[in-house]
Amino acid sequence: MVSTTNSLNITNTDFDLQSWLENIIQNRSETEKQALIDACNWAEEIHQSRTYAGKPYLVHVITVTNILAQLGMDTDVLIAAILHDAIDNIDLYEIKKRFGSTVMQLVDGVAKMKLIEELNSQINTNEQTERLRKMLLAMAKDIRVVLIKLADRLDNMRTLRYHSKEKQQRIARETLELFSPLANRLGIWQIKWELEDLSLRYLEPETYQRMAKLLDEKRLDRENYIQRIMTILNEELLKIGIKADISGRPKHIYSIWHKMQRKGVEFEEIFDVRAVRVLVKTVNECYMALGIIHNKWQPMRNEFDDYIANPKNNDYQSLHTAVMGPDQKIFEVQIRTSEMHHHAELGVASHWRYKEDIKHQDTSFEQKITWLRSMLQWKDEDGDAGDFIDRFKSEIFEDRVYVLSPQGEVIDLPQGVTPLDFAYHIHTELGHCCRGAKINNRIVPLTYNLKSGDLVEILSSKIEKPSRDWLLPQAGYLKTSKARSRVRQWLKKQDNNHHVNEGRSLLERVLRRLNIKSHNYEKLARNLNFKSIDDLLVSVSKGDISTAQIANLFREEVLPTPRVPLVVKNDTAINEVHVKGVGGLLTKMARCCNPEPYDPIIGYISKERGIVVHCCDCTNALRWQDEGNKRLIEVEWSRPDNLAACLYPINIQINGFDRTGLLLDICNIIINENINIIATNSKTFKEDNHVNMNFTLEVNDLEQLSRTLSKIDNLTNVMKVWRKS
Ligand code: MN
Repeated sequence: MVSTTNSLNITNTDFDLQSWLENIIQNRSETEKQALIDACNWAEEIHQSRTYAGKPYLVHVITVTNILAQLGMDTDVLIAAILHDAIDNIDLYEIKKRFGSTVMQLVDGVAKMKLIEELNSQINTNEQTERLRKMLLAMAKDIRVVLIKLADRLDNMRTLRYHSKEKQQRIARETLELFSPLANRLGIWQIKWELEDLSLRYLEPETYQRMAKLLDEKRLDRENYIQRIMTILNEELLKIGIKADISGRPKHIYSIWHKMQRKGVEFEEIFDVRAVRVLVKTVNECYMALGIIHNKWQPMRNEFDDYIANPKNNDYQSLHTAVMGPDQKIFEVQIRTSEMHHHAELGVASHWRYKEDIKHQDTSFEQKITWLRSMLQWKDEDGDAGDFIDRFKSEIFEDRVYVLSPQGEVIDLPQGVTPLDFAYHIHTELGHCCRGAKINNRIVPLTYNLKSGDLVEILSSKIEKPSRDWLLPQAGYLKTSKARSRVRQWLKKQDNNHHVNEGRSLLERVLRRLNIKSHNYEKLARNLNFKSIDDLLVSVSKGDISTAQIANLFREEVLPTPRVPLVVKNDTAINEVHVKGVGGLLTKMARCCNPEPYDPIIGYISKERGIVVHCCDCTNALRWQDEGNKRLIEVEWSRPDNLAACLYPINIQINGFDRTGLLLDICNIIINENINIIATNSKTFKEDNHVNMNFTLEVNDLEQLSRTLSKIDNLTNVMKVWRKS
C-alpha cells in the first residue's frame, strides 16, 4: 500500500483481545458492554482450534469487527461481526436468545451473502454477476449486512497471500467485480480504495509493483510540492476569513491505473498524483475557496466538476478542479464541507457514526437507502458496463425477487410469486408434482410469497396432480402466467386422457362382445380417417362415431359366408357381378375355376362371351396378370342394398341371472332390430339361478349385430353377451 492514511488497520501480530475489548466498549451502556464481552467469549470458544491465514481464527473475526468499529457502526453490528463466521457452529435461535433478533438477522444476512459469494465463484458470467449484485442489495433490507460483508471481504483481501495463486486471482477478480463497486455504490470510500488496490496487486502484480515504485521514487518531491501549495492556499483563504482544513490527498494505485487505462496515457501524464483536499464549513465557503484557487492558478479545461450541485449517484458531494500550479505542474483540488467529507469517506456508514447529528434526518436516511437500491443499475461504473445496463434497464429492480434453489442457483422471479411459481419456473413437471415447499428449511403454504434470499425447496410426489384450485386467482397459488398456462394445459390434457380411456374401454367392450380377438387400433384409426388412435378414442367417447360403425369394419373377419337368399329368379340374379364403374354388361362365370359368390375375382373381356369372371388365383388369371394382359378388368360381387339380400348366421351366448321376463326382453330387442332368430336354447342352473342362453341370429351386418349385443348387455341381470366363434 502506498498510502496507509485512513486505512482501517489493526496490528494482527501479538493481538491482545483484552485491551482491544476495553477500548471498544468505552462509552457504551452497561448492557452493550456486557453483550460485547459475551460475544467475544462465545466466539473465542467456538473458534478455539481454528486458524485463519496462519493466525487464530479470532484475529480475523476481531479485525473485521474493528473495521466496523472504525466506521462507527453500532453495537448490534459489532456483535454480529464477532459472530459472523460462527454460524456453522451455532444456532440462529441461540443468537436471538442471547443478543436479540437484530443481531440474529444480521448474522443470518451475512451467512446468506456468504452463500452468494460461493455461488459467484462457480458461475462467472457477466449476467450472473449482475444478478448477484442486485441480489446483494435486495437482500440487504438492513444495509448493515453489506457493511459487515465488506469488512469481512477487506480482511480476506488483506490476507490473500496465504492462498493459492488461482484462488488469489479468483477472489481478487470477484472483489473488483462485486465488492468494490458495492462499496463505491454505498459511498464507503475507505473500503472501496483498499479493496481496489489489493485486487490490482494480485491481478496485475507487475503493473502494481511498477507503479508503486514510480510513486515512491517521486514521493519526496511530491510531498514538498504539496506542502508548498498548502501553505499558499492557507494564507489566501485566511485573507477572506475562511479557516480551512487542508491536506495532501493520498492517491491510490488502482485509481491512477484505472485513469491510465481509461485515458490511454502513461503514468507521467497523470497529473492528479498531486492532489490536495480543502475542507470548509459551509457550501458557500466551498465556492468561495474555488474562486480563490481559480483566481490564483490557471484552471485546466474540462477538469472542473460540481458534484455539490450535481451529486454522484452514490450521493458523493464535492467540487473537483485541476489547475496549473507553480513550476508549470498541474495539481488536483477537492473542495467540500466536513459533513460532505464524512459522507464521502464513510458513505451510508456515516449514518451510524454521526447518528447524534442527524437523528432528525432519519426519514431522509431511509429515503437514501431506498434511493441507493433503486440506483443499483450500476450505470457508468466503468465505461464498458453500459452493455449490461441496457440489458437490465427494463428490469425494474424492486419488482423482482431473487431466491436460491437447493443447488445454489440464483433464480429471479417477479415479486409476489409463490413456491408453486418457483416450481413451475424450474421445471413444468416439478410444478405438476409439487405438493409443498420449504423456505429456509421450514414448511410453508404453497401460497407463501417468496422473498429475496429465500432458499426454496420443493416437496414433490411422483404423481402429477395439479389442482383446478391453482387457477383460481383469489386462491393466490400462482402469480406467473407461464405457470398458470402450464396448469391449464395439463388439465386439458387430462380431460383428453379421460376421453381416450373412456373411448378405449367402450371400444374394447364392443370388440369383446363381438369376440374379435385380433385388432389393430392404428389401422382402425387410419381406415376411419383419424390422425391418431387417441383422436379415434376421443371421438368414440364423445359419441361422434358409434361403436357399431367401427364394429362394421370387422365384417370380413367376423361374418361367415352369407346365406344366399332363397327367393331367386335365375342364375344371374344370385350371382350377379358388377363391373366396376360400368353397369349392364354381359358376364359369365369361367368354367376353369368356377368362382363362388364373394371369392376374390377378376374379369376377362372375351370377344364373344362378354366379360368372363375368373377367380383371382385361377392359373389363367394369374398368367394374364403376369403378362399384363390389357383384356383384364376389375370386377366385384354385387352387394345388394336389400336387407334380405344377404343374411349372416351368427351364434351368440348370453350369461346372466334368470329373472321373470329376461328371455322376453332379449327377444324383443332382437325382433325390434328386425333380426330373425334361427335357433335358441336356454339352460338355467337352479342352484344359483345362473342362466346360459344361446341364439343363432341372422344379421345383415355387424353394425346391426353390435347394436343388438350392446342393448342386450345393458339389460338387468345380463352379465355377459358375446358372439361365439
Ligand atoms: Mn469472515
